[in-house]
Amino acid sequence: MKKLWPSKQLAGYISVVFAAAVVAIFAGWTGFASRIDNYAYDFFFGLYPPHVEARESALVAIDENTLNEFGGMRRIRSILAATLDRLATAPPKAVALDVILADPGDPAEDAKLEAAMARTHDLVLPCELVPGGWENPIPRFSRHAVALGHIHADDKARDGVSRQIQLEKLAPGDRRWALSLVAFQYSRGGQPIMESPEDLEIAGVRIPAARRAGERPLRIRFAPDTAGISAADLLHDPSVAAELKGKTVFVGVTALTAARDRLITPLGESVPGVAVHRDAFETIAQGQFLTPASNLTVLAVCFAFAAAAGFTFWYRGGWSAYVIGAGLLGVAHTVPAYLFRQGLVFPYFAAVSAAWLPVAAAATYRYFVVRGQLHQSESDKARYRQAIHFVTHEMRTPLTAIQGSSELMGRYVMSEDKRKQIALMINSESKRLARMIQTFLDVERLTEGQTDLKKEQFGVEDLMATCLARVIPIAERKQIQIHPPEPTTDVLTGDRELMEYAVYNLLTNAVKYSEAGTEAWLSGERSGGWVRISVRDQGIGIDAKEIKNVFTKFYRTKKAEASGESGTGIGLSIVDQIVKEHGGRMEVASRPGQGSTFTMILPCHAEAPVDALSASKRM
Ligand code: ADP
Repeated sequence: MKKLWPSKQLAGYISVVFAAAVVAIFAGWTGFASRIDNYAYDFFFGLYPPHVEARESALVAIDENTLNEFGGMRRIRSILAATLDRLATAPPKAVALDVILADPGDPAEDAKLEAAMARTHDLVLPCELVPGGWENPIPRFSRHAVALGHIHADDKARDGVSRQIQLEKLAPGDRRWALSLVAFQYSRGGQPIMESPEDLEIAGVRIPAARRAGERPLRIRFAPDTAGISAADLLHDPSVAAELKGKTVFVGVTALTAARDRLITPLGESVPGVAVHRDAFETIAQGQFLTPASNLTVLAVCFAFAAAAGFTFWYRGGWSAYVIGAGLLGVAHTVPAYLFRQGLVFPYFAAVSAAWLPVAAAATYRYFVVRGQLHQSESDKARYRQAIHFVTHEMRTPLTAIQGSSELMGRYVMSEDKRKQIALMINSESKRLARMIQTFLDVERLTEGQTDLKKEQFGVEDLMATCLARVIPIAERKQIQIHPPEPTTDVLTGDRELMEYAVYNLLTNAVKYSEAGTEAWLSGERSGGWVRISVRDQGIGIDAKEIKNVFTKFYRTKKAEASGESGTGIGLSIVDQIVKEHGGRMEVASRPGQGSTFTMILPCHAEAPVDALSASKRM
């Protein structure tokens, strides 16, 4: 596999993908996310209902029929007494009653119920948390119970759907287990409940219900069928009781008119509280637990998705990256469903957003990088083309001179003097050519950041004199007078050859873009720690809105194009580059039709030491 981008972009890329993952994880903690998680949970619930092979429990329902036939809720204690008596003939393993009996009723009825309770083995009675503590059944009932269990449904779900119960609930100084848990305990012969912060254990069954803020939530595997056996049927037909032999029986009111607590399950069914307790019991008895994934697991999976997205778009190019990215999204969407089947509740929103955001971030980053690369290679190509143009254009003049002169020498007999003169000319033109190539290469390397600048010392006056001498013949041909600078002793440090190229370029531009008969000025002045080398002309000038462009490679002003002077628009960009490399900057002042002043502002650290000046004069 080949890496697509240079590694300097790696840090930026990693931080973008990482940031996307962090945003996704934080988004997973919002209220909106938990709503989505709940929807997904309920959806998976319908998709994968629990397999209940042999139920250990049964529900005896005091339903509409029972109430109609046996005198309604006013006679509930008699109904319960008769039901318990009938159950005792089976007998069940344990009986859990989900009817609050906190107040004394009709004494005769209470006596009947108490006697029935006394005959019931392993009876579990309900209690409720009210302001001020636990509300228990009256003592005459509770003394026949092996234990009390609370019957609170979980009230934390904002959407009103019951998904869990709290296995333990605390009133100050008095902790109670859930009715279903206690019923399970007595279905296992009343073995003790062993607790640890992470789970509970009864008779070798581990119940993964970690304690959170004093409560232990247990997710219930609701079974679709919740109707149960009608108490009326049980009372009419003694043989029905036989079905309940050895089971744990939950007895409660299910009649719509009388049940105080009806709850909505993830399956969308409205069920009475007693059915919830029965399903909670069955969840424990069948060991079909649904445990929430730990925060650490969620973090690890989310970062794994982000890392996979990151690797995909880092190592893969083109459509294959997008195909793998799409596959990753598919996995992220299905992993929570798969884990649900395994009994692990994984937050759906976090999984999905931890894949989507990093994939989107990585793909976008990649898109911009590829676009940037394209742009870069386009401009490299254009630069290369212009460079070729520049080289051929600039070299044509000296080459033509050399070619012409050498032909003259070969074809005609000429005086020794003339011959020497032409040979001298060939020599100087070929030197100019070589210099040009060298400068060009130096500047190219400078632009690429490949070369270290030479660090020579040279006098400003000497530098200006050299350039002036070279430009005067050209200026004279155009009858332009260039005024020489005032003497100065300032010294510059840097690459003299490049500096000469810069000053010479400004001077030739002044000549090139001025009318015949005008004047130009060259000056070099000290201003604080800086030397200002200026070339002023009375030429065509530059429009204000074009000034900022003249240092752009290959830019030529409209006036320059119209002047008929040939040019490539590369010279000033090189000058600018050279000045910048020397720690300085360029300044331009110009008015159309009135002339321009180009100034190189360069740092100057010292006055010329005598030998530096004379050394540079010798060159
Ligand atoms: P070239 O002269 O080869 O076109 P340069 O990079 O040296 O390229 O200059 C870029 C442009 O800046 C020129 O084409 C011209 O439009 C403008 N320019 C440079 N110097 C002058 C000047 N002294 N007066 C007017 N315009 C100038």
